[in-house]
Amino acid sequence: MVKISSNFDAGNIEVIEAENTGNIRLRIRKDHNSDFYQWFYFRLSGARGQLCAMTIENAAGAAYPDGWENYQAVASYDREEWFRVSTIYHDGEITIQHIPESDSVYYAYFAPYSMERHHDLVSQAAVDERVHLNAIGETLDGQDLDLLTIGEMAVGKKVIWVIARQHPGETMAEWFVEGFLERLLDHEDALSRSLLEKAVFYVVPNMNPDGSRRGHLRTNAAGANLNREWENPSVENCPEVFYVRGKMDETGIDLVLDVHGDEDLPYNFIACFEGIPDIDIARLDLAYDYQQCLMQLNPDFQTEKGYPKPPAGTANMTIGTNQLAHRYQAVSLTLEMPFKDTVDTPNPQTGWSPERCRKLGHANLDAIAAVITRL
Ligand SMILES: [Zn+2]
Repeated sequence: MVKISSNFDAGNIEVIEAENTGNIRLRIRKDHNSDFYQWFYFRLSGARGQLCAMTIENAAGAAYPDGWENYQAVASYDREEWFRVSTIYHDGEITIQHIPESDSVYYAYFAPYSMERHHDLVSQAAVDERVHLNAIGETLDGQDLDLLTIGEMAVGKKVIWVIARQHPGETMAEWFVEGFLERLLDHEDALSRSLLEKAVFYVVPNMNPDGSRRGHLRTNAAGANLNREWENPSVENCPEVFYVRGKMDETGIDLVLDVHGDEDLPYNFIACFEGIPDIDIARLDLAYDYQQCLMQLNPDFQTEKGYPKPPAGTANMTIGTNQLAHRYQAVSLTLEMPFKDTVDTPNPQTGWSPERCRKLGHANLDAIAAVITRL
């Protein structure tokens, strides 16, 4: 019997009709208490060898409908290896067409990063003696908010923060952190060891565990968009930002990387803090040097395309990158990766992928090394 199901960690789909594999009709569920939706993740079982056409009827009303242009969904048989499958956007609907080679196949908006995998990541990192794990607070669903501290604070050391996945559907952000930590904790990597002599790293691999487990695109359990809460976070509505910003107030920040995915733009790029009221040109130049270095190290990254730069004094200070640049006089960077693929360096088989996210994570350590003495 053919069945579609999504009642698992990070799953999201509503089945309208799945009688005929040639015309399966689906809808994406909205984030709780919110109108945002675009993340989907479901299993199709019992359809080996059959041509399946799975149409998501409410694609046009998703948060970023332009995100469906030139978009290919991902699929996996073993939930380790994800590949792209034929996807067409037409008349406000997307249709995924695929002949599964197994009776169990998963489809998703991007390679999922489940809360179970998050626990693997955090506990494996915590085995390293240089790492401290602090559960700095609880989410509204009662999950731990995990902060990894790597290295010990000492006079003269820089403070570097990496936060990822404020928007839970942007799973590429946690794949990135996986690569970043993998290299930072590699004892055989001289660059990482030298960085750890110069800086302490505070890493929040997943800012939004509730949205992640619930299969949300953009919000937490209360429907709050965390990246609009940094000016005045309430513990009732967004404990995630409340606790993390509280910890940042204790440590201060020299450089912070806030890692995201962009539904629409087929590029890796960084958005800075040009629009804050008290802009310091020297700090902004450091942010641009960081990007130049990253581009040379990893051609998947570029600086031509990205978000428009707001004029000084017009920044939205509820956004993490702006608030942190202002609050701590930090070099504050929003790193965006694509859901689709990079136009300049495409890989049609996988599109933008977990492995490429990890490699970009590695390269960011080189970029940090290039600017660290000037922070
Ligand atoms: Zn985002």
